[in-house]
Amino acid sequence: MSGATTVDTARLPSMLTQLRLPTVARLWPTLAETADRESWPAAKILATLMEHEIAERAQRRTARHLLEARLPTGKTLDRFDFTAVSSISKARVCALPEGDGWLDRGTNILLFGPPGVGKSHLGAALGHAMIDAGYRVLFTRTTDLVQQLQAARQDLKLASAIEKLDKFHLLILDDLSYVQKSQAETSVLFELISARYERRSLLITANQPFGAWNDIFPDPAMTVAAIDRLVHHAIILEMNTESYRRRTAEAKAGKIPSPQPKERINS
Ligand code: ADP
Ligand code: MG
Repeated sequence: MSGATTVDTARLPSMLTQLRLPTVARLWPTLAETADRESWPAAKILATLMEHEIAERAQRRTARHLLEARLPTGKTLDRFDFTAVSSISKARVCALPEGDGWLDRGTNILLFGPPGVGKSHLGAALGHAMIDAGYRVLFTRTTDLVQQLQAARQDLKLASAIEKLDKFHLLILDDLSYVQKSQAETSVLFELISARYERRSLLITANQPFGAWNDIFPDPAMTVAAIDRLVHHAIILEMNTESYRRRTAEAKAGKIPSPQPKERINS
């Protein structure tokens, strides 16, 4: 390296830190050597460094989004055995991450089925896939979120707590049916559903389909209003099969499972 270059590069690390370009900071010494040796045009080294920075920035963003999403680990689409749930179409579900803009329109996904059929797994798997597609996701047990929103309401901060959840394109509410039936709880849930209506998507898993939702929302008018908003733009997947856990055990014992097909899609 010439003396002039040494002087010029001395401040590079701190300048690159200041500009938040960690990938350029890491790669430039090696790339500069290659460029010198192979007589690259200046524009080529600049473009190569920027390409690396942009690619790694996307990776860092995805890693951040994955961390904040609090998804259960290992529950991905490629680990989901669709042959065990013949009531839902693998092609249809796997097309969702590629998207037709459903997430941008605030379309909801409702997953119904008895315990153990893979609702949480499939919900989490869609969460993973949407993060890979560049979206932000939060996975939470419905009861936990309801408690947080109730606490926020007690501090007169419910509106801002709901607004903060807006940054998540997809909010996964696992086990809606487990929410206890007090009026206070369900009204925060209703406010969340209303606030996200036609703007931000919810993915809800529930053991009970709508017929039993009067047990979740004790006020029948509120139940109707909540369901109305949820289903207006919704993909409803009914996983009316037997427990995957039980079937796995039965398969080991040599029995063959018998699923019942059913899938509904609104708009
Ligand atoms: P649910 O939420 O409907 O009660 P889970 O998603 O918790 O059921 O599934 C129970 C267990 O069985 C989990 O460990 C899950 O990963 C696994 N499982 C369920 N269905 C499938 C499936 N179709 N393919 C692979 N694993 C499954
Ligand atoms: Mg579950």
